[in-house]
Amino acid sequence: MRPESLYPLFAPVTALAGVGPRLAPLIEKLAGKHVVDLLWHAPSGLIDRRHMPRLAEARPGEVATLRLRVEAHQVSRGARQPYRVLCSDDSGTIRLVFFHAKPDWLAKLLPIGAERIVSGVVELFNDELQMTHPDHVVPAEQLAEISGVEPVYPLTAGLAPKALLKVVRDAVGRAPQLPEWLEPHYLQRHAWPAWGEAVHRLHAPAAEAELSPASPVRQRLAYDEMLANQLALALVRANLRRVAGRVIQGDGRHRGAILAALPFDLTGAQRRALAEIDADLAAPSRMLRLLQGDVGSGKTVVALLAMAAAVESGAQAALMAPTEILARQHMATLAELARPAGLSIALLTGRDKGKARDDVLERLASGRIDILVGTHALFQEDVAFHDLALAVIDEQHRFGVHQRLDLAAKGRAVDMLVMTATPIPRTLMLTAYGDMDVSRLDEKPPGRQPIDTRVLPLARLDQVVVGVQRAIAAGARVYWVCPLVEDSEKTDLAAVEERHRELVALFGARVGLVHGRLKGPAKDAVMAAFAAGELDILVATTVIEVGVDVPAATVMVIEHAERFGLAQLHQLRGRIGRGERRSTCLLLYGAPLSETARARLNILRDSEDGFRIAEEDLRLRGAGEVLGTRQSGLPEFRLADLAVHGELLAAARDDARLIVESDPQLHGPRGPALRTLLYLFERDAVVNTLRSG
Ligand code: ADP
Ligand code: MG
Repeated sequence: MRPESLYPLFAPVTALAGVGPRLAPLIEKLAGKHVVDLLWHAPSGLIDRRHMPRLAEARPGEVATLRLRVEAHQVSRGARQPYRVLCSDDSGTIRLVFFHAKPDWLAKLLPIGAERIVSGVVELFNDELQMTHPDHVVPAEQLAEISGVEPVYPLTAGLAPKALLKVVRDAVGRAPQLPEWLEPHYLQRHAWPAWGEAVHRLHAPAAEAELSPASPVRQRLAYDEMLANQLALALVRANLRRVAGRVIQGDGRHRGAILAALPFDLTGAQRRALAEIDADLAAPSRMLRLLQGDVGSGKTVVALLAMAAAVESGAQAALMAPTEILARQHMATLAELARPAGLSIALLTGRDKGKARDDVLERLASGRIDILVGTHALFQEDVAFHDLALAVIDEQHRFGVHQRLDLAAKGRAVDMLVMTATPIPRTLMLTAYGDMDVSRLDEKPPGRQPIDTRVLPLARLDQVVVGVQRAIAAGARVYWVCPLVEDSEKTDLAAVEERHRELVALFGARVGLVHGRLKGPAKDAVMAAFAAGELDILVATTVIEVGVDVPAATVMVIEHAERFGLAQLHQLRGRIGRGERRSTCLLLYGAPLSETARARLNILRDSEDGFRIAEEDLRLRGAGEVLGTRQSGLPEFRLADLAVHGELLAAARDDARLIVESDPQLHGPRGPALRTLLYLFERDAVVNTLRSG
């Protein structure tokens, strides 16, 4: 149960004063659904309204807060004329200027003869002082409310700064006193404020320096966020480990048969990874290992050999893929590779229904299936294994701690191997996986041709088409990738379809189209046609990022490459360069290209090393953007900036590790506060795995 002290923060934003049906969607879009989300919406600038000159001393171009007497209203004549209000103090006069203003409203706001505090930018017009649309106009007794330093927030279209300011103030006012979850000496060492004070100060910066991520206030809040993240991961891990593992030792008969039939030798990296996995399997504790390697680095074989050991020991294994296409492809690959060993492999996805499904479930429960391959359909309640010992999860570039937990629950002390093709930098890896053991396949299988990557403006599309024509004539197959922008999926879909039509007009019928809206079987059919050589060109959105393996495809055109994350481009490019023939990747950008964007594309042109690419991307763009989109599933931080707070992340990891070692159920003196922290950052699922406190 969420602690009661947090209830006000998890009320919907409509609980805040003035937030009704018009404002709510804007605020939700900008910050989030709950009051707490506004606390994390940090100011990006400030306006100092403390300067209170007399009119004679007011300098044009500066923000000033003025104490004025209203002298006269000059009603606008004609729609294009502004409405002016003449004001004065004992040293001079100024005109307040309003376009499209309602006279009634202005008459009430600025009654003739009244004294008003007015704040905004002073301008000079025809040698006279004026102020266009003052930011604030209030009666003299409200001076204190507006004359300080005002935070400036990132906005969204339709939301006025003043309205947002008011809403955030209300939210901050609702922040409760919370118990301190950080160690007192740690707070002291960094001179960090308590949580409540930090929240208040975050929204009341007194100077530019306080906007910096390195300021004590922002560091403290960032640390809290990272500690919640690391603690959640450490608890998941501790929970997985709490159940004693089992000893899995194969006798090598299946593995030997598979290896003997492979047309290649394992790379050194594959051998090392396998040895690490074997040691984990043989140990009586549970395995929780990440197998990280670029697309094409040979993870599948390693996974199969690990699963073969589980089967040799008399148990079963499962492999879960993030998409239907990928599950089918794994199924085909594994069946082929495992045939010499005579393993029984079956597929289970969301599309299997009725009798076929029942049949798989029945053979699974009786132990006649050795390896089950599937999508998250593997989690469904009625899926029961005879004896599941090893779960392999191919995450590609999606991450999901909960799914890992679910699959682990299907067996008695299931060992877990998580495969990822995303070459995430070390710091990001910590946020997604915490302290997981890692095996890296940092060596490509021999004989791969380097990919010739070129960066070109979209304006040269005509030349690209000519080049593609030539390549197809020489027997190449071509991926043509168009981006989908998150917000306007429909129009982007139209763009892909249009490109498809144009290419059909140019190249004839041998041009296929796949995108996310296509239903499963239709998508598979197009992919299969491309793989079989019935299509020369496959126009696609990023759905081809995971999935297809077509060694004959040697050309990839990516439109608007600047809109993708580098890691994503790298993974897309990994779809070519898989065969014997030399491959070419054309990155087309929309001009003008910013310096950073050009530098990013050049990294890709110059390197095929996923780890290097990811590190550079982090350096150039910061963590939030490294994977390009929110869809990556990597945890997103509201306050922490990994490019700046990397060291704090490491400290949070150490802190989390110590906490979990000494108090795995969070029952100790720091326990209630730490549980509150987890709830504050919405790690409810993890808290629910703890025994109640
Ligand atoms: P990943 O899953 O890491 O993307 P795969 O396991 O699909 O990579 O391997 C890519 C291709 O390389 C496959 O065709 C596979 O058979 C082949 N392969 C794997 N290991 C080796 C190796 N040691 N030597 C040569 N080819 C290999
Ligand atoms: Mg693979």
